[in-house]
Amino acid sequence: MTASTMDELVSLCKRRGFIFQSNDIYGGIKGLYDYGPMGVELKNNLKQSWWKSMIYERDDIEGLDASILTAPAVLKHSGHEDTFTDPLVDCKSCKARWRDDQLENNTCPNCKSTDLTEPRPFNLMFKTAIGPVDDGTSFAYLRPETAQQIFTNFKNVIDSTNKSLPFGIAQIGKAFRNEITPRNFIFRVREFEQMELEFFVDPGTDEKWHKHWVDLRYNWWIDQGIKKANIELYTVEKKDLSHYSKATIDIMYKFPHGNEELEGIANRTDFDLGSHTKNQDEFDITAKVMENKKSTTKLAIHKLEEKKWIIPFVIEPSAGVDRGVLALLNEAYFNDVQNSRIVLALKPHLSPIKAAVIPLKRNNEELVNLAKKIKKDLQKIGLGRVILENSGNIGKSYRRHDEVGTPLCITVDFETLENNTVTIRDRDTMKQQRVNIDMLESYYSKYFD
Ligand code: ATP
Repeated sequence: MTASTMDELVSLCKRRGFIFQSNDIYGGIKGLYDYGPMGVELKNNLKQSWWKSMIYERDDIEGLDASILTAPAVLKHSGHEDTFTDPLVDCKSCKARWRDDQLENNTCPNCKSTDLTEPRPFNLMFKTAIGPVDDGTSFAYLRPETAQQIFTNFKNVIDSTNKSLPFGIAQIGKAFRNEITPRNFIFRVREFEQMELEFFVDPGTDEKWHKHWVDLRYNWWIDQGIKKANIELYTVEKKDLSHYSKATIDIMYKFPHGNEELEGIANRTDFDLGSHTKNQDEFDITAKVMENKKSTTKLAIHKLEEKKWIIPFVIEPSAGVDRGVLALLNEAYFNDVQNSRIVLALKPHLSPIKAAVIPLKRNNEELVNLAKKIKKDLQKIGLGRVILENSGNIGKSYRRHDEVGTPLCITVDFETLENNTVTIRDRDTMKQQRVNIDMLESYYSKYFD
């Protein structure tokens, strides 16, 4: 069922309005992509599904939408200013630049030379000036992960919601990394979105919660339509752990270009809350102690029964929205040779368009008006986008909607005018059935339930 090559996905994405190269009319910028009319719906549906599972279906997680521009002090204390680097090498022959740890046999992929410079650390964070004078003293970073502003808001959320351990704060938003070699379509880009949860727990219970979240997150991806055969867990080796992590399990997906990380679930211990907390000496902190602490806040929890403050440990499931979109497109792509069509067999809750209402003749006012009314009524139910497809060519309309993954095509034809029924065509089976218009809303709601 999956696409055989990345090229097939890239081509479908451009052809049907999912994803375009960004800044394309001026030659594009590497590692930046724009989501088109279908892409934005798919992406929003994926994010909504995550948000629902994190916030609406639980009572122990709160949401947040914090700023992207981040004070340097935050990223100093989080360790990103000093350690958020990739090893950069230059090819002395063709002058191309590469990430050392991604080279095969220390060879330049461009000209095959092995004459490379020694690797040097390259910080991945983007900087921008704040205020009218750009003299290098007043700047902010574009956040490299959404997590840090969850930590800096820890006390705000506790004080405004009365949460007690264990509980989480979840956020979806943009993150930016100046990747040395962005590649593989939207897999490795410089501007992307993350869906991150920071789940705060009592120290000592962290390993149990870590395992729990790995299971939950694995199953969630299966629920989105990823087949078990294409997904696996990988325990990150100690030497490869991020500076904040005690243990990380990656959810790996078989992307068209190889088996790579879709989501990482890290045990960040008390590293971040500890690093952002004033007067750390009061606490038994296992996190790396930072110099020049200037935070004004104690990011800790007061345990009444034990009469002491503790810094919670945190478990972080961190998923890439763009990598999720790529994985789901790949899972859903089906070249149905028998019926000469490409089908995007997305789970209905993710489909960019839930139903297309198609009048059989584009110039027949009666058919078109009836189709418009059906579209309006179904749209009101609020399950996602319903579209009036008035292109006048029923065969082409079906092909188009197969390719963008629309589960239901509803056709208004001349029989409709006689007996008040429409045909509903199922994307996957291509079977059509006639349904009375009076039953349509309940049919539609039940289908997506
Ligand atoms: P990688 O090793 O592939 O660079 P990472 O371990 O640095 O990824 P994390 O810091 O754990 O990634 O970020 C959490 C998630 O954010 C990743 O699992 C991935 O889905 C997403 N992500 C990270 N970097 C990028 C990127 N450059 N482009 C798209 N998504 C990304």
